[in-house]
Amino acid sequence: MEYRIGIIKGDGIGPEVVDAALEILDELGEKFNHKFSYREALAGGSAYDQYGEVLPQETIDICRDSHAVILGAVGGSKWDNLPKDKRPERAILGLRRELNLFANLRPGLLLKSMAASSPLKERIIGDGFDILVVRELIGGIYFGESGRRDTRDGIAAYDTEIYSEKEISRIARFGFEMAMKRKKRLTSVDKANVLESSGLWRKVVNQVSQNYPEVELCHMYVDNASMQVIRDPKQFDVILTTNLFGDILSDEISMLTGSIGLLPSASIGPSGIGLYEPIHGSAPDISGRGIANPIAAILSVAMMLRFSFNLDGEARAIEDAVDKVLGEGYGTIDLGPKDDRLCTTAEMTELIKREI
Ligand code: NAD
Repeated sequence: MEYRIGIIKGDGIGPEVVDAALEILDELGEKFNHKFSYREALAGGSAYDQYGEVLPQETIDICRDSHAVILGAVGGSKWDNLPKDKRPERAILGLRRELNLFANLRPGLLLKSMAASSPLKERIIGDGFDILVVRELIGGIYFGESGRRDTRDGIAAYDTEIYSEKEISRIARFGFEMAMKRKKRLTSVDKANVLESSGLWRKVVNQVSQNYPEVELCHMYVDNASMQVIRDPKQFDVILTTNLFGDILSDEISMLTGSIGLLPSASIGPSGIGLYEPIHGSAPDISGRGIANPIAAILSVAMMLRFSFNLDGEARAIEDAVDKVLGEGYGTIDLGPKDDRLCTTAEMTELIKREI
């Protein structure tokens, strides 16, 4: 079978880390005899520069005609002063909506071999931890009504957090399914003591849980959760949460594993087309210097192999290679390795490639 993959390199370090990930995918294709074909499309700032819009129709068409899409990152100060609907980040929201990608999976995995790169104390890390954040992706405050109006106190601005029962039950079922494949523990994170939308979230999650009696469910307020993931990350298996809370919590969890440059993500919907991207942004402060950590992008490819193509062995081959290289102490600058193990993007990619 030929696997058709849409490639959106994006802005800043996006092209650097996507090129690294494709190098690994090519190597894997050769070793395991798979044919991966790529079609490039523009989105974000680079698309704005060329077409005057951040998500051209051609890009949407290429993505719809692919089995999966790999995305680098978009954005940068060059486009920061554009009106809201022209900002590069709108391309990502648009793509998620166009492809109906309602579920975002963000693993926060810290293996024992990576303990040195975590800011947490050894006694907290123990044998490591493995958290999967399941974040609702096309609802909530990022898609609710927003605006500005004049008031006696000057301009007021508002954004609306809104969730329907259907949206909540869809992502909740997805979260419980993930928990069934793992340790069967699910923590639903909300702010039900204050927010009406969270009250409904909790009620619907409880209803959905009736169909998953094997999964141990607990509810946690988001302020407590943000503290608990640092105090005792091992208590978590699957974290199910809203778009906004998931955005923040998954970045926090990424730092517990050592660097935002390590963590991949997958966005999945009913069409079957998955979008795979590192959780980091375009890192304009380091772009063009060849020092970006390519691992988040490389592990995004592993997620694609597993979730879109059902190639679990091949996904594992990448994950094991990354684990081995990190376990030997090699790292890009963000991981703070010893001087003789410090790698550029290209060197890190080559080391991982050799282990495949
Ligand atoms: P960022 O994730 O780009 O960078 C935060 C910090 O982490 C920076 O110091 C950066 O150098 C470092 N970093 C990030 N990825 C790294 C990597 N692979 N290797 C080494 N270091 C890495 O977040 P930001 O600075 O808040 O945002 C920069 C731009 O990216 C903004 O325009 C923002 O809107 C955009 N952004 C895009 C996405 C996306 O495309 N999905 C996500 C977040 C932010």
